[in-house]
Amino acid sequence: MTLTAIISDIHGNEGALTAVLDDARDRGATQTWCLGDVVGYGARPLQCLQRLIDDNAAIIRGNHEQAVIDGPFGFNPLAAAAIHWTRGLLEDTPEHLAFVEGLGDRIDTETAVLVHGSPASPVDEYLFREETLDHLARGRDFSPKLARSFKLIDRPCFVGHTHVPGVIDAEMKWIEPPLNGDGYDTGGKPCIVNVGSVGQPRDGDVRASYALFDGRIVTFRRVDYDVAAAAAAIFNEPALPDALGQRLIEGW
Ligand code: ZN
Repeated sequence: MTLTAIISDIHGNEGALTAVLDDARDRGATQTWCLGDVVGYGARPLQCLQRLIDDNAAIIRGNHEQAVIDGPFGFNPLAAAAIHWTRGLLEDTPEHLAFVEGLGDRIDTETAVLVHGSPASPVDEYLFREETLDHLARGRDFSPKLARSFKLIDRPCFVGHTHVPGVIDAEMKWIEPPLNGDGYDTGGKPCIVNVGSVGQPRDGDVRASYALFDGRIVTFRRVDYDVAAAAAAIFNEPALPDALGQRLIEGW
């Protein structure tokens, strides 16, 4: 059975991407599916794009690719600064800009649905842990929002966007990623699997996050990489706010 590395939210972090792809290869993965946000925030967006193109990865569009194309509407000033800088780089290499413009927002494989945010709104919608039934924030019931997405899938769906890994099962409960090597068995049935972020984890664990998928079992992985070097690359780029490097060191 083919083992696939599913990665998301690389955000121009070339060291983290390399570490993840090495780890996946060492575990027997032979293909890569990328759920978007290859660019944005980080200092090596073109290198990350080129690596995934070279690897023949299946790639969909994230909200940061959308922002590079349309402008960073609704982005905070830190994220917007990185988008403007990235857009400038892409204009200098038109083949990369054309590649980003050509990305679709959903891929259905034989065993999975791939989107960046959610099935209901592939590029933009966040599906947070706090919206699942066992985390009823302030007594609000988010299940209609989740039900809307579950109606649009008939098999496991892989997402990124929140930068926090975990599973929302068909009961709309949140399942923390088992990191002891145990896999999560999807049974091939609808569920929403967030693979976390390769290049900017936001769950307090600074290691790169991704998942391996054999068509049924999801294995969550965390991988060490040189965080200080990725932060330094951002500090050394005057157009990128230093906070974008600092957050890599702090994991938010
Ligand atoms: Zn992202």
